[in-house]
Amino acid sequence: MLCLKNAFLVDGTGQNPQEGVTVVVQGKTIVQVGRDITIPEDAQVIDLKHKPLLPGFSDAHTHLGGSDSLDRPGLTSRFANYNYAQNREAALEWGVTAVRSAGDFTPEILEFRDEVNEGKFRSPRILACGRFIQAQNGYPGYAVFSADQNILDNAMVLVNDQTDIEAEVKKLVEAGVDFIKTVISDDNKMDYPNSVPRLSNEQLKRIADAAHKYGKRLMVHVDDLKDMAEAIAIGADTIEHIISVGSSNHELTDELLKTLTSRDVWVVPTMIAIKNHDAMPGIPPVYATLEKVVREFIKAGVKIGVGCDSGIPFVPYGECVHLEMELLTEAGMSPLAAITAATGGNAKMFGQEHFFGTVEPGKAADLVVLGSNPLQDIKNTRDIKMVLRDGRIVVDKLLNN
Ligand SMILES: [Zn+2]
Repeated sequence: MLCLKNAFLVDGTGQNPQEGVTVVVQGKTIVQVGRDITIPEDAQVIDLKHKPLLPGFSDAHTHLGGSDSLDRPGLTSRFANYNYAQNREAALEWGVTAVRSAGDFTPEILEFRDEVNEGKFRSPRILACGRFIQAQNGYPGYAVFSADQNILDNAMVLVNDQTDIEAEVKKLVEAGVDFIKTVISDDNKMDYPNSVPRLSNEQLKRIADAAHKYGKRLMVHVDDLKDMAEAIAIGADTIEHIISVGSSNHELTDELLKTLTSRDVWVVPTMIAIKNHDAMPGIPPVYATLEKVVREFIKAGVKIGVGCDSGIPFVPYGECVHLEMELLTEAGMSPLAAITAATGGNAKMFGQEHFFGTVEPGKAADLVVLGSNPLQDIKNTRDIKMVLRDGRIVVDKLLNN
């Protein structure tokens, strides 16, 4: 048994912080949270001396990348540079204790997820969509990865007019994915301003219906607000990106705002990824537009998830979650709301709120201790002193310092 006493608790539910709290962890689970707790004599006690204690952060949109650590030679993709071991270590160092893979080699990612969740690897917990579904000659397969047959063959489901979409979704579900992800975009950042074919709304509807039939939430990658509105109309549960480099159709309508706030749909703007790719040569920048739209979303109370598109170039793994929270506060979110979004909020979006994401009895003991108050300055989430994952101390700059 482990007791963390004298915590300044920011519990991830969105409620105000509490001073002088004790959190008791037994095995992998938080068993008690409160002020008047009798600490058992045999417990290991860590006095946090009023340091902030938070749930572990999560990254709702990541690509864990190559399969190096799985010892599967032969995969020579451009993702091979981003190996699982390096990424999961970076995540833990930055207090990121859960990630949602938004497209990786399948079945490797699903096997890896299972081994991680059985405790065989030092890693954030993993949720995964497996292969994502896209138009046969569309984005990003062909547009970005046409030279990489491995990616086309092992990380995507390519859809044409003959594809039995429901059967393809069923295959993914039977393989054990946590989500279904699809991409709708006709933009081609690699050959701007030429476009590529995108899935029709009718195909998209079949994907959404099949996902829901098999009890899975649907993640939809969109690059502009028109596609976003159409994705929501056919039943998307989470919207990934909103506005990407090389896109047009940036007009935010009242109707879209109303739909977003009246339906159970989440938006993951991946601001850090868009910002860090904004200076692509020959393509008009979009970040300022994205920030304006996110500001309107925050004002209107749209549910925002914290995801980074980590694993792609220029998005530093793990650290990006802190950068994303900073950008959300620049767009009008309070530090408390940004922290809630990156912890308890993401867990709700994942459908995992019963399991992790907040500091409450019965939840997984994925915890972060900070050296300074993140509600005064969101940058203080970077001041990480200790990280626990499933009740084990995996990063310690507090006791060994
Ligand atoms: Zn992505």
